[in-house]
Amino acid sequence: MKKRTIPLARPDITDHERQKVMAVLHTPYLSMGPMIEKFEERVAAVAGTRYAVAVSSGTAGLHILVRALGLGAGDEVITTSFSFIASSNCLLFEGVKPVFAEIDEETLNIDPARIEEKITPRTKAILPVHVFGRPADMEAINEIARRHNLKVIEDACEAIGASRRGIPAGKLGDGAVFAYYPNKQITTGEGGTIVTDNPELYRLARTLRNQGRSEGGGWFDHERLGFNYRFDELSAALGLAQIERLDEILEKRERVAEKYNRFLSEIPGVRVPHREPDVKISWFVYVIRLEEGIDRDRTLHYLQERGISCKPYFCPIHLLPFYKRELGCQDGDLPLTEKVARTTLALPFYNNLSEDDIAYIASCLREAVEYCR
Ligand SMILES: *Cc1c(COP(=O)(O)O)cnc(C)c1O
Repeated sequence: MKKRTIPLARPDITDHERQKVMAVLHTPYLSMGPMIEKFEERVAAVAGTRYAVAVSSGTAGLHILVRALGLGAGDEVITTSFSFIASSNCLLFEGVKPVFAEIDEETLNIDPARIEEKITPRTKAILPVHVFGRPADMEAINEIARRHNLKVIEDACEAIGASRRGIPAGKLGDGAVFAYYPNKQITTGEGGTIVTDNPELYRLARTLRNQGRSEGGGWFDHERLGFNYRFDELSAALGLAQIERLDEILEKRERVAEKYNRFLSEIPGVRVPHREPDVKISWFVYVIRLEEGIDRDRTLHYLQERGISCKPYFCPIHLLPFYKRELGCQDGDLPLTEKVARTTLALPFYNNLSEDDIAYIASCLREAVEYCR
């Protein structure tokens, strides 16, 4: 049998999208210009917010929000360790201390019931992450935030187009961020967008991404310390063409997830992603969990040897060596998060993953879990 190679992720770019990017090269606008404004309008429409500010990455967007909300040294923000490192690094950039709360074992999102135990007089905000494209329980989180007068930053970098009870991810925080790295649902190469309903946050985000320049002022009117976190026209042209296909892309991903569920749900020891009523997942990655007693790392290796890319999503942030050094985190700090993280495995997942490949992955996984018990 011919050996397969199945990547973990693969962007889905059409000829129409290639042409849109080429067309930008015939205009004088390569950095900020009209494509960005159109793209921002579309992103705001997806989130149902008044404003959107396109930036150079998801990480840049999160950093801007932390700065724009005035968080700094001495402040604490409650967030999740079961995430990509950027959701917590954006706090360290400003000297803010991330305080990690436990996750819900089914949804893998921050558990609202475990937030209040982490609140101290220094707590200024909550930063939930919509992990793997599943919206966190923003209503419960906002209720806690209201009671304790905290800000809420939504890391929606994995969740464009997701919703809970019909409310889009990105709508309920003070500000939220989407991201477009090539493994995300839609891509611009690099890029991200801040969305918000708050006019002051919007104004600040626009100046912070552009070297602290004042709105409507001259090129050398820098009114504050800012960054070069600008987006560019080539990326915006790609993003605009991609976001026009967002519904189609999310449907394709939903179908791939359904096929996986069908093929995998019969395999003993394998747990497919949890389903909740009223929640629309925007499928980012497809992550299974292995029953305790199955060696996750050996399973991963077994699949990789058969040409199937897979990764242990996520390694808890608080267990990374520099987090241990900087924050004094230790093994055992978050028993539930650590237990879950030892059992998760992200399988290949992209729009055009074929049923034949899914069947192959399922049969290799069935062998692997028998072999790795
Ligand atoms: C992708 C991602 C980001 C942002 O990543 P960039 O590569 O900077 O665009 C932030 N948080 C989470 C949870 C992510 O998955």
